Amino acid sequence: MRSARQKVLSAVRFTTKMGGDTMISAKEAIKKLEEGNKKYLTENTGSGDISPAARLRTCANGQRPYAIVIACSDSRVIPESIFSAGIGDLFTIRVAGNVIDSHQLGSIEYSVEHLGTNLVVVLGHTCCGAVDSAIHHDPSGFIKCITDEIRQAIGDETDPYRASCLNVEHSVRKISRALDIDHLRKGNDPAVIGAIYHIDDGHVEFLYE
Ligand SMILES: [Zn+2]
Repeated sequence: MRSARQKVLSAVRFTTKMGGDTMISAKEAIKKLEEGNKKYLTENTGSGDISPAARLRTCANGQRPYAIVIACSDSRVIPESIFSAGIGDLFTIRVAGNVIDSHQLGSIEYSVEHLGTNLVVVLGHTCCGAVDSAIHHDPSGFIKCITDEIRQAIGDETDPYRASCLNVEHSVRKISRALDIDHLRKGNDPAVIGAIYHIDDGHVEFLYE
């Protein structure tokens, strides 16, 4: 007898297949994110498609997100708004300090393997409270799990911007090492990239060559 999990996964594969879309490459996904961010810079409200038609379409055909975004939980960092994305566009994982652990890896693996997503973006940001706490404080409780992880990433770095970049790069490395997603690469296209969101002017700086 099939387990409940197998049934769920079969259902997901079925709806994914029924979607019928050809998934876009990592390179195309980066272009979409760049264009979406450019649009966001001059918008006062979100411009992604959140229409009833989009709800019905994705309900009937399943989801085919073109990028996985791992972002901080900070209330000023809203991935769908930042990239002018709507229903079904982004597979978003949010955790304070955009740190990576097994739960995040499982979520990424799910989207890559079962939803066909070809691009993973770790989105750090300026003025990050979790990074600041790792630099200047020694918190107790469960917060320490997060700041200890960030400390591993930043070492002795005390500049907040450089520390945020190091923290993003650390998460990118963890994802690349843990998951077999090299097959997503086409030529020189990156599959896992880092980026920094500037909370003052809204622009996203991609951290790749
Ligand atoms: Zn943050």
